[in-house]
Amino acid sequence: MPAPRRYVTDAIVLSRFDLGEADRVLTLITPEHGKLKAIGKGIRRPASRLGGSLEPFAELNVALARGRTFDVVTEVRVGHAWLALRDRLESAATAWYLAELADRSLEERHAAYELYALLRRAYELLNAGMDPGRVARWYEMHLADELGQRPEVDRCVECDRMLEPSERFRWIPPLGGVVCQRCPGPAADHTDLSLEALKLLKAYQRLDVEAIAALRLSPAVEREVESAMRDFMRVALERDARSLAFLDEVRATPRPA
Ligand SMILES: [Zn+2]
Repeated sequence: MPAPRRYVTDAIVLSRFDLGEADRVLTLITPEHGKLKAIGKGIRRPASRLGGSLEPFAELNVALARGRTFDVVTEVRVGHAWLALRDRLESAATAWYLAELADRSLEERHAAYELYALLRRAYELLNAGMDPGRVARWYEMHLADELGQRPEVDRCVECDRMLEPSERFRWIPPLGGVVCQRCPGPAADHTDLSLEALKLLKAYQRLDVEAIAALRLSPAVEREVESAMRDFMRVALERDARSLAFLDEVRATPRPA
C-alpha cells in the first residue's frame, strides 16, 4: 500500500532554520514517524496561519502533505503549550539541550514512541517547575537506556564484580560505566567518582521522577553527576551538544534579585 499523501501526527519541534524569504524548515519528532523535516511555507509572514503555532516547547498536532524534499505543513493545532517552561531561561535552555540530544539520537523516519514520550514528559516536568538539572539528568539516563547504552553503575565493567561501598570508583564512559579499584583500567581518561555520586547515578536509573525531584542533595554531588553524565552522553552520541554552551552561559548569569 503506498503511503498516504496527507497525514496527521502529534509532534514537537526540535530545531528550525529559516529558508528563503518567508519559509522555515522544521525538524520534528513524532511518535510514529520518528524524526522528520518539514517546511512551513510563508510561515514568517505576519499574516501566516501557521506562524504563531509552529514553535518549539509545545506539543503540536500537525497535518502534513508529502513533498519531494520536505513534507509540507498544512495545518497546526497546539495540544500543550508549555508556557511556564519558556518563562525561565534555564528551563528554556535545558529544553533546547534535551531537544538536541533527541535530534542526535534519532534517524529520520524511524518510529520513536519511547523517545517522544520521554521528551514530552521532560517538558511537562520543566513546565511544572522541577529543577532543570534533575530533569536533564533523568532524561539523559533514560535516553542512554533507549540507545542501548545504559551506564553500568552496579558492577565493574571490566571484571563484572559487584561494586562495594568501601572501594574507589573510576568513571570511564568509553567502557560504559564504573571500573572497580582492583582492575587496572586505563590510567588516563577517567574521573574518580564519590560513593554519593554513584548512589545518585543509581537513583536516576531506579527511582521514578517524582522521587528524584524530592531528593535532598548536596550541590557538589549534583555537579559531579552532571559532569559524569555529560561525559557519558558525549561518548554515547560521539560529540558535545552545541546547546550546552548556551545552557552554561545562562547558568553563569546572576539571577535578578
Ligand atoms: Zn573490576
